[in-house]
Amino acid sequence: MSDLDDTTIITFSLNIFLGNDFGQMNDHKENMKLALEEARKAGEKDEVPVGCVITDEGGKLIASAHNQTITMADPTAHAEILALRQACGERKNYRLLNTYLYVTVEPCVMCMGAIIHSRVSRIIFGTYDSKWGAAGSLYDFSEDRRLNHHPEIISGICIEECRALIQKFFRNKRC
Ligand code: ZN
Repeated sequence: MSDLDDTTIITFSLNIFLGNDFGQMNDHKENMKLALEEARKAGEKDEVPVGCVITDEGGKLIASAHNQTITMADPTAHAEILALRQACGERKNYRLLNTYLYVTVEPCVMCMGAIIHSRVSRIIFGTYDSKWGAAGSLYDFSEDRRLNHHPEIISGICIEECRALIQKFFRNKRC
């Protein structure tokens, strides 16, 4: 095989790789927009605006929820927990193998625990949470080898929009 052929093959493979990557990034943004819609619903109820959706690996939506701790008088009613319950109900299974969880803000210590228990394969989040974040900020449970499941983490999807929403909420609270 000549050098030219090698180059052609490499370029072709690279384009396929980039093409797939680009397509997947678009899907991530689309699903994060759905999570942002959920977050806004929480904000309208004067709840901390965090939203979450769960899809299967093919992109089919299986759950969507927003933070409702005050409304439900329940400290565990974070967007992720409510979405996990919905998805498990949908699948009639306490394991959520081959699913992606999208959330506008980095999951907290409680939610990361629940996500790991449920075996979600990938977590895609928007903005970081330096106070509670357990997917890279304060802790990184996804990398803790003492735990038996390690979801893949993708961060910073629609970060500006996700961050602006939460910052605006807390700024208004202080006024
Ligand atoms: Zn949480």
